[in-house]
Amino acid sequence: MNTNRRSFVKATATLAAAAPFILTARAQEPQRKLGVALVGLGSLATNQIAPALAKNTRLCKLTALVSGTPEKLTKWQAQYGIPATHCYNYEQFDRLKDNPDVDIVYVVLPNSMHPEFTVRAAQAGKHVFTEKPMANSAAECQQMIDACKQAKRRLGVGYRCQFTPHHLEMIRLSRYEVFGRLKCVEAAFGFKIGDPTQWRLRKALAGGGALMDVGIYAIQGMRYLVGEEPVSVQAFETKTDKVKFAEVDETITWELKFPGGVLAKGATTYAFNGMNYLRGLAENGWFELGPQAYGYGGLNGRTSKGPLELPQVDHFAAELDDFAECILKNRPTRASGEEGLADLKVIEGIYRSIAEGKAVKLG
Ligand code: NDP
Repeated sequence: MNTNRRSFVKATATLAAAAPFILTARAQEPQRKLGVALVGLGSLATNQIAPALAKNTRLCKLTALVSGTPEKLTKWQAQYGIPATHCYNYEQFDRLKDNPDVDIVYVVLPNSMHPEFTVRAAQAGKHVFTEKPMANSAAECQQMIDACKQAKRRLGVGYRCQFTPHHLEMIRLSRYEVFGRLKCVEAAFGFKIGDPTQWRLRKALAGGGALMDVGIYAIQGMRYLVGEEPVSVQAFETKTDKVKFAEVDETITWELKFPGGVLAKGATTYAFNGMNYLRGLAENGWFELGPQAYGYGGLNGRTSKGPLELPQVDHFAAELDDFAECILKNRPTRASGEEGLADLKVIEGIYRSIAEGKAVKLG
Protein backbone atom coordinates (compact mmCIF):
# COMPACT_ATOMS: atom_id res chain seq x y z
CA MET A 1 0.00 0.00 0.00
CA ASN A 2 1.62 3.34 -0.99
CA THR A 3 1.76 6.36 1.32
CA ASN A 4 -1.07 8.17 -0.44
CA ARG A 5 -3.31 5.15 -0.28
CA ARG A 6 -2.45 4.57 3.38
CA SER A 7 -3.26 8.16 4.33
CA PHE A 8 -6.52 7.93 2.41
CA VAL A 9 -7.46 4.68 4.11
CA LYS A 10 -6.91 6.55 7.37
CA ALA A 11 -9.03 9.46 6.16
CA THR A 12 -11.75 7.06 5.07
CA ALA A 13 -11.78 5.37 8.43
CA THR A 14 -12.79 8.75 9.85
CA LEU A 15 -15.26 9.19 7.01
CA ALA A 16 -16.79 5.74 7.54
CA ALA A 17 -17.04 6.40 11.26
CA ALA A 18 -18.72 9.73 10.53
CA ALA A 19 -21.16 8.37 7.95
CA PRO A 20 -23.83 6.93 10.25
CA PHE A 21 -23.55 10.11 12.28
CA ILE A 22 -24.25 12.19 9.19
CA LEU A 23 -27.01 10.06 7.79
CA THR A 24 -29.14 9.09 10.75
CA ALA A 25 -31.22 11.09 13.19
CA ARG A 26 -29.71 11.52 16.64
CA ALA A 27 -31.22 11.94 20.07
CA GLN A 28 -29.26 15.08 20.91
CA GLU A 29 -30.19 18.04 18.73
CA PRO A 30 -28.64 21.51 19.07
CA GLN A 31 -30.52 24.27 20.88
CA ARG A 32 -30.75 26.40 17.76
CA LYS A 33 -30.74 25.36 14.11
CA LEU A 34 -28.25 27.40 12.08
CA GLY A 35 -29.96 29.93 9.80
CA VAL A 36 -29.50 29.72 6.04
CA ALA A 37 -29.95 32.56 3.54
CA LEU A 38 -30.66 31.32 0.01
CA VAL A 39 -29.21 33.51 -2.73
CA GLY A 40 -30.89 33.10 -6.14
CA LEU A 41 -34.39 31.62 -6.10
CA GLY A 42 -34.17 29.62 -9.32
CA SER A 43 -34.96 26.06 -10.20
CA LEU A 44 -32.60 24.25 -7.80
CA ALA A 45 -33.39 26.53 -4.85
CA THR A 46 -37.14 26.22 -5.48
CA ASN A 47 -37.46 22.51 -6.18
CA GLN A 48 -34.76 20.97 -4.00
CA ILE A 49 -32.99 23.19 -1.49
CA ALA A 50 -35.89 25.07 0.09
CA PRO A 51 -38.00 21.88 0.50
CA ALA A 52 -34.98 20.11 2.04
CA LEU A 53 -34.50 22.98 4.50
CA ALA A 54 -38.20 23.00 5.34
CA LYS A 55 -38.64 19.25 5.79
CA ASN A 56 -35.44 17.29 6.16
CA THR A 57 -32.57 19.21 7.74
CA ARG A 58 -31.91 18.69 11.44
CA LEU A 59 -29.20 21.27 12.03
CA CYS A 60 -30.19 24.22 9.84
CA LYS A 61 -33.27 26.00 8.48
CA LEU A 62 -34.21 28.70 5.99
CA THR A 63 -34.16 32.16 7.59
CA ALA A 64 -33.51 34.66 4.78
CA LEU A 65 -33.88 35.16 1.03
CA VAL A 66 -31.90 37.04 -1.61
CA SER A 67 -33.42 37.53 -5.06
CA GLY A 68 -33.50 39.97 -7.96
CA THR A 69 -37.17 39.16 -8.57
CA PRO A 70 -39.55 40.94 -6.13
CA GLU A 71 -42.50 38.64 -6.97
CA LYS A 72 -40.48 35.59 -5.90
CA LEU A 73 -39.67 37.24 -2.57
CA THR A 74 -43.36 37.92 -1.94
CA LYS A 75 -44.35 34.36 -2.80
CA TRP A 76 -41.52 32.73 -0.78
CA GLN A 77 -42.15 34.94 2.26
CA ALA A 78 -45.66 33.55 2.51
CA GLN A 79 -44.70 29.99 1.61
CA TYR A 80 -41.82 29.68 4.08
CA GLY A 81 -42.82 32.22 6.74
CA ILE A 82 -39.84 34.51 6.18
CA PRO A 83 -40.33 38.09 7.46
CA ALA A 84 -39.91 41.01 5.04
CA THR A 85 -36.96 42.21 7.15
CA HIS A 86 -35.10 39.02 6.08
CA CYS A 87 -35.57 39.52 2.31
CA TYR A 88 -32.93 41.26 0.22
CA ASN A 89 -32.12 42.05 -3.39
CA TYR A 90 -28.56 41.77 -4.70
CA GLU A 91 -27.76 45.43 -3.94
CA GLN A 92 -28.94 45.02 -0.34
CA PHE A 93 -27.05 41.72 0.06
CA ASP A 94 -24.30 43.13 2.29
CA ARG A 95 -26.91 44.05 4.91
CA LEU A 96 -26.93 40.35 5.79
CA LYS A 97 -24.09 41.20 8.14
CA ASP A 98 -26.61 42.83 10.48
CA ASN A 99 -28.91 39.80 10.51
CA PRO A 100 -28.11 37.51 13.46
CA ASP A 101 -30.58 34.89 12.18
CA VAL A 102 -28.28 34.09 9.24
CA ASP A 103 -25.25 31.87 9.87
CA ILE A 104 -24.79 30.36 6.39
CA VAL A 105 -25.20 31.96 2.98
CA TYR A 106 -25.99 29.38 0.27
CA VAL A 107 -25.10 30.75 -3.20
CA VAL A 108 -27.36 29.16 -5.84
CA LEU A 109 -26.69 31.61 -8.68
CA PRO A 110 -25.31 31.05 -12.21
CA ASN A 111 -21.67 29.88 -11.97
CA SER A 112 -19.96 33.18 -12.81
CA MET A 113 -21.69 34.85 -9.86
CA HIS A 114 -20.45 32.39 -7.21
CA PRO A 115 -17.12 34.18 -6.52
CA GLU A 116 -18.59 37.66 -6.00
CA PHE A 117 -21.33 36.50 -3.64
CA THR A 118 -19.04 34.11 -1.78
CA VAL A 119 -16.55 36.90 -1.08
CA ARG A 120 -19.29 39.36 -0.12
CA ALA A 121 -20.90 36.80 2.20
CA ALA A 122 -17.59 36.08 3.93
CA GLN A 123 -16.98 39.81 4.30
CA ALA A 124 -20.44 40.06 5.89
CA GLY A 125 -19.18 37.57 8.48
CA LYS A 126 -21.19 34.57 7.23
CA HIS A 127 -20.15 30.98 6.49
CA VAL A 128 -20.57 30.23 2.79
CA PHE A 129 -21.89 27.23 0.94
CA THR A 130 -21.73 27.62 -2.84
CA GLU A 131 -23.13 25.51 -5.63
CA LYS A 132 -20.90 23.66 -8.06
CA PRO A 133 -18.88 24.45 -10.07
CA MET A 134 -17.37 26.60 -7.34
CA ALA A 135 -16.25 29.18 -9.95
CA ASN A 136 -15.29 29.43 -13.58
CA SER A 137 -11.53 29.35 -12.94
CA ALA A 138 -9.04 27.98 -10.44
CA ALA A 139 -7.80 31.52 -9.75
CA GLU A 140 -11.28 32.57 -8.65
CA CYS A 141 -11.58 29.46 -6.44
CA GLN A 142 -8.37 30.51 -4.71
CA GLN A 143 -9.72 34.04 -4.16
CA MET A 144 -12.86 32.57 -2.57
CA ILE A 145 -10.79 30.31 -0.30
CA ASP A 146 -8.59 33.25 0.71
CA ALA A 147 -11.58 35.52 1.42
CA CYS A 148 -13.20 32.92 3.69
CA LYS A 149 -9.90 32.23 5.47
CA GLN A 150 -9.36 35.93 6.03
CA ALA A 151 -12.86 36.32 7.44
CA LYS A 152 -12.39 33.13 9.52
CA ARG A 153 -15.54 31.69 7.97
CA ARG A 154 -16.11 28.20 6.57
CA LEU A 155 -16.46 27.51 2.86
CA GLY A 156 -18.31 24.49 1.44
CA VAL A 157 -19.20 23.42 -2.11
CA GLY A 158 -22.44 21.68 -3.11
CA TYR A 159 -20.88 18.28 -3.76
CA ARG A 160 -24.00 16.49 -2.51
CA CYS A 161 -23.02 13.02 -3.84
CA GLN A 162 -20.29 12.69 -1.23
CA PHE A 163 -22.95 12.61 1.48
CA THR A 164 -24.99 9.73 0.05
CA PRO A 165 -24.67 6.10 1.21
CA HIS A 166 -24.04 5.04 -2.42
CA HIS A 167 -21.01 7.25 -2.99
CA LEU A 168 -19.69 6.64 0.53
CA GLU A 169 -19.87 2.91 -0.16
CA MET A 170 -17.99 3.34 -3.47
CA ILE A 171 -15.29 5.25 -1.59
CA ARG A 172 -15.12 2.56 1.09
CA LEU A 173 -14.87 -0.28 -1.45
CA SER A 174 -12.06 1.53 -3.24
CA ARG A 175 -10.03 2.81 -0.31
CA TYR A 176 -10.28 -0.39 1.74
CA GLU A 177 -9.35 -2.39 -1.38
CA VAL A 178 -12.33 -4.72 -0.84
CA PHE A 179 -11.86 -5.97 -4.43
CA GLY A 180 -8.08 -5.54 -4.36
CA ARG A 181 -6.14 -2.59 -5.67
CA LEU A 182 -7.99 -0.17 -7.89
CA LYS A 183 -6.68 -0.21 -11.47
CA CYS A 184 -9.13 1.83 -13.57
CA VAL A 185 -12.04 4.20 -13.07
CA GLU A 186 -14.71 5.00 -15.63
CA ALA A 187 -17.07 7.90 -14.99
CA ALA A 188 -19.47 9.88 -17.12
CA PHE A 189 -22.36 12.26 -16.69
CA GLY A 190 -24.33 14.05 -19.38
CA PHE A 191 -27.81 14.96 -20.51
CA LYS A 192 -29.64 16.45 -23.47
CA ILE A 193 -30.00 20.13 -22.69
CA GLY A 194 -33.21 21.93 -23.70
CA ASP A 195 -33.90 25.68 -23.93
CA PRO A 196 -31.20 27.19 -26.20
CA THR A 197 -31.55 30.61 -24.51
CA GLN A 198 -30.62 29.48 -20.96
CA TRP A 199 -27.54 30.81 -19.10
CA ARG A 200 -25.90 27.34 -19.13
CA LEU A 201 -25.14 27.92 -22.83
CA ARG A 202 -23.62 31.40 -22.29
CA LYS A 203 -19.90 31.20 -21.58
CA ALA A 204 -19.84 34.44 -19.59
CA LEU A 205 -22.31 33.04 -17.04
CA ALA A 206 -21.58 29.29 -17.19
CA GLY A 207 -17.80 29.33 -17.74
CA GLY A 208 -18.11 26.31 -20.04
CA GLY A 209 -20.63 23.71 -21.11
CA ALA A 210 -21.32 20.12 -20.10
CA LEU A 211 -17.88 19.72 -18.51
CA MET A 212 -18.37 22.59 -16.04
CA ASP A 213 -21.98 21.69 -15.31
CA VAL A 214 -22.06 17.88 -15.03
CA GLY A 215 -18.69 16.52 -16.14
CA ILE A 216 -17.46 17.91 -12.82
CA TYR A 217 -19.35 15.10 -11.00
CA ALA A 218 -17.38 12.49 -12.95
CA ILE A 219 -14.11 14.29 -12.14
CA GLN A 220 -15.06 14.40 -8.45
CA GLY A 221 -15.92 10.69 -8.55
CA MET A 222 -12.58 9.81 -10.13
CA ARG A 223 -10.66 11.85 -7.56
CA TYR A 224 -12.47 10.44 -4.54
CA LEU A 225 -12.33 6.84 -5.72
CA VAL A 226 -8.61 7.00 -6.44
CA GLY A 227 -7.78 9.20 -3.45
CA GLU A 228 -4.97 10.98 -5.28
CA GLU A 229 -4.60 14.05 -7.48
CA PRO A 230 -4.13 13.31 -11.21
CA VAL A 231 -0.78 14.13 -12.80
CA SER A 232 -1.77 14.38 -16.48
CA VAL A 233 -4.78 14.52 -18.79
CA GLN A 234 -5.57 14.00 -22.44
CA ALA A 235 -8.96 15.14 -23.72
CA PHE A 236 -10.98 15.25 -26.95
CA GLU A 237 -13.98 17.35 -27.91
CA THR A 238 -16.66 17.04 -30.54
CA LYS A 239 -19.35 19.60 -31.43
CA THR A 240 -22.21 18.32 -33.56
CA ASP A 241 -24.42 21.42 -33.08
CA LYS A 242 -22.22 24.44 -33.65
CA VAL A 243 -25.11 26.89 -33.30
CA LYS A 244 -26.54 25.75 -29.96
CA PHE A 245 -23.07 25.16 -28.55
CA ALA A 246 -21.40 28.18 -30.17
CA GLU A 247 -20.07 29.43 -26.82
CA VAL A 248 -19.65 26.28 -24.72
CA ASP A 249 -18.55 22.66 -25.00
CA GLU A 250 -21.04 19.97 -26.08
CA THR A 251 -19.31 16.57 -25.73
CA ILE A 252 -15.90 15.86 -24.21
CA THR A 253 -14.01 12.68 -23.33
CA TRP A 254 -10.85 12.61 -21.23
CA GLU A 255 -8.34 10.31 -19.61
CA LEU A 256 -6.60 11.08 -16.33
CA LYS A 257 -3.42 9.44 -15.10
CA PHE A 258 -2.92 9.18 -11.32
CA PRO A 259 0.49 8.94 -9.60
CA GLY A 260 -0.16 5.42 -8.23
CA GLY A 261 -0.83 4.16 -11.77
CA VAL A 262 -4.65 4.27 -11.93
CA LEU A 263 -6.10 5.41 -15.25
CA ALA A 264 -9.51 7.11 -15.30
CA LYS A 265 -11.64 7.49 -18.40
CA GLY A 266 -14.36 10.13 -18.40
CA ALA A 267 -17.03 11.65 -20.62
CA THR A 268 -19.65 14.39 -20.51
CA THR A 269 -22.24 15.78 -22.90
CA TYR A 270 -25.11 18.18 -23.40
CA ALA A 271 -26.20 16.30 -26.56
CA PHE A 272 -27.85 13.08 -25.35
CA ASN A 273 -29.23 11.24 -22.32
CA GLY A 274 -28.08 7.97 -20.80
CA MET A 275 -24.52 8.66 -19.69
CA ASN A 276 -24.62 8.46 -15.89
CA TYR A 277 -22.14 6.10 -14.22
CA LEU A 278 -19.18 5.75 -11.86
CA ARG A 279 -17.23 2.51 -12.02
CA GLY A 280 -14.20 1.19 -10.15
CA LEU A 281 -12.29 -1.74 -11.68
CA ALA A 282 -9.97 -3.48 -9.24
CA GLU A 283 -7.67 -6.51 -9.23
CA ASN A 284 -10.33 -8.94 -7.98
CA GLY A 285 -13.66 -7.40 -8.96
CA TRP A 286 -15.60 -4.22 -9.78
CA PHE A 287 -18.12 -1.85 -8.21
CA GLU A 288 -20.33 0.66 -9.95
CA LEU A 289 -23.13 3.19 -9.68
CA GLY A 290 -25.53 3.54 -12.59
CA PRO A 291 -27.71 4.00 -14.54
CA GLN A 292 -28.34 6.69 -11.89
CA ALA A 293 -24.98 7.59 -10.38
CA TYR A 294 -25.30 11.33 -9.79
CA GLY A 295 -28.97 12.42 -9.91
CA TYR A 296 -30.88 13.36 -6.78
CA GLY A 297 -33.94 11.29 -7.70
CA GLY A 298 -32.55 7.97 -6.44
CA LEU A 299 -29.20 6.22 -6.96
CA ASN A 300 -28.46 2.62 -7.89
CA GLY A 301 -25.48 0.33 -8.34
CA ARG A 302 -23.90 -3.08 -7.94
CA THR A 303 -20.60 -4.86 -7.48
CA SER A 304 -19.17 -8.00 -9.06
CA LYS A 305 -20.71 -9.80 -6.05
CA GLY A 306 -24.26 -8.44 -6.43
CA PRO A 307 -26.54 -5.40 -6.11
CA LEU A 308 -25.83 -2.49 -3.76
CA GLU A 309 -28.84 -2.28 -1.42
CA LEU A 310 -28.50 1.09 0.27
CA PRO A 311 -30.96 3.69 1.58
CA GLN A 312 -31.84 6.75 -0.48
CA VAL A 313 -31.39 10.11 1.24
CA ASP A 314 -32.25 13.74 0.55
CA HIS A 315 -28.90 14.86 -0.92
CA PHE A 316 -29.46 18.51 -0.10
CA ALA A 317 -30.45 17.90 3.51
CA ALA A 318 -27.43 15.61 3.91
CA GLU A 319 -24.91 18.12 2.52
CA LEU A 320 -26.40 21.04 4.46
CA ASP A 321 -26.56 19.17 7.77
CA ASP A 322 -22.96 18.07 7.30
CA PHE A 323 -21.89 21.68 6.68
CA ALA A 324 -23.87 22.89 9.71
CA GLU A 325 -22.27 20.18 11.81
CA CYS A 326 -18.81 21.23 10.62
CA ILE A 327 -19.56 24.72 11.91
CA LEU A 328 -21.11 23.56 15.18
CA LYS A 329 -18.35 21.04 15.92
CA ASN A 330 -15.53 23.02 14.38
CA ARG A 331 -14.44 20.20 12.10
CA PRO A 332 -13.42 20.39 8.41
CA THR A 333 -15.79 19.53 5.57
CA ARG A 334 -14.92 17.06 2.81
CA ALA A 335 -16.79 19.23 0.30
CA SER A 336 -14.37 22.09 0.89
CA GLY A 337 -13.22 25.01 -1.19
CA GLU A 338 -9.97 23.10 -1.75
CA GLU A 339 -12.02 20.26 -3.33
CA GLY A 340 -13.71 22.78 -5.62
CA LEU A 341 -10.32 24.22 -6.55
CA ALA A 342 -8.87 20.76 -7.30
CA ASP A 343 -11.74 20.03 -9.71
CA LEU A 344 -11.31 23.37 -11.48
CA LYS A 345 -7.61 22.60 -11.98
CA VAL A 346 -8.57 19.34 -13.74
CA ILE A 347 -11.24 21.13 -15.81
CA GLU A 348 -8.71 23.76 -16.89
CA GLY A 349 -6.30 20.94 -17.79
CA ILE A 350 -8.97 19.28 -19.94
CA TYR A 351 -9.67 22.51 -21.82
CA ARG A 352 -5.91 23.07 -22.23
CA SER A 353 -5.40 19.57 -23.60
CA ILE A 354 -8.19 20.12 -26.16
CA ALA A 355 -6.74 23.48 -27.19
CA GLU A 356 -3.19 22.11 -27.51
CA GLY A 357 -4.23 18.78 -29.05
CA LYS A 358 -2.03 16.74 -26.73
CA ALA A 359 -1.72 15.33 -23.20
CA VAL A 360 -0.87 17.99 -20.60
CA LYS A 361 0.59 17.83 -17.11
CA LEU A 362 -1.56 18.78 -14.14
CA GLY A 363 -0.64 20.30 -10.79
P1 NDP B 1 -31.65 28.76 -12.51
O1 NDP B 1 -31.43 29.49 -13.78
O2 NDP B 1 -32.90 27.98 -12.38
O3 NDP B 1 -31.64 29.80 -11.29
C1 NDP B 1 -30.64 30.75 -11.12
C2 NDP B 1 -31.22 31.95 -10.39
O4 NDP B 1 -30.17 32.90 -10.21
C3 NDP B 1 -32.28 32.72 -11.15
O5 NDP B 1 -33.59 32.19 -11.01
C4 NDP B 1 -32.19 34.09 -10.56
O6 NDP B 1 -32.86 34.10 -9.31
C5 NDP B 1 -30.70 34.22 -10.22
N1 NDP B 1 -29.96 35.04 -11.21
C6 NDP B 1 -29.33 36.19 -10.91
N2 NDP B 1 -28.73 36.69 -11.99
C7 NDP B 1 -29.02 35.87 -13.01
C8 NDP B 1 -28.70 35.87 -14.40
N3 NDP B 1 -27.94 36.83 -14.96
N4 NDP B 1 -29.15 34.86 -15.17
C9 NDP B 1 -29.88 33.86 -14.64
N5 NDP B 1 -30.22 33.82 -13.33
C10 NDP B 1 -29.80 34.81 -12.51
O7 NDP B 1 -30.38 27.87 -12.26
P2 NDP B 1 -30.26 26.59 -11.32
O8 NDP B 1 -31.05 26.78 -10.09
O9 NDP B 1 -30.51 25.38 -12.12
O10 NDP B 1 -28.67 26.60 -11.00
C11 NDP B 1 -28.10 27.47 -10.04
C12 NDP B 1 -26.76 26.91 -9.58
O11 NDP B 1 -26.97 25.64 -9.00
C13 NDP B 1 -25.74 26.69 -10.69
O12 NDP B 1 -24.46 27.00 -10.23
C14 NDP B 1 -25.84 25.20 -11.01
O13 NDP B 1 -24.63 24.66 -11.50
C15 NDP B 1 -26.17 24.65 -9.65
N6 NDP B 1 -26.94 23.40 -9.72
C16 NDP B 1 -26.57 22.35 -8.93
C17 NDP B 1 -27.27 21.19 -8.93
C18 NDP B 1 -26.90 20.10 -7.99
O14 NDP B 1 -27.39 19.00 -8.14
N7 NDP B 1 -26.06 20.37 -7.00
C19 NDP B 1 -28.42 20.98 -9.85
C20 NDP B 1 -28.77 22.16 -10.58
C21 NDP B 1 -28.04 23.31 -10.52
P3 NDP B 1 -33.64 35.38 -8.77
O15 NDP B 1 -34.75 35.63 -9.75
O16 NDP B 1 -34.13 34.93 -7.45
O17 NDP B 1 -32.66 36.51 -8.70
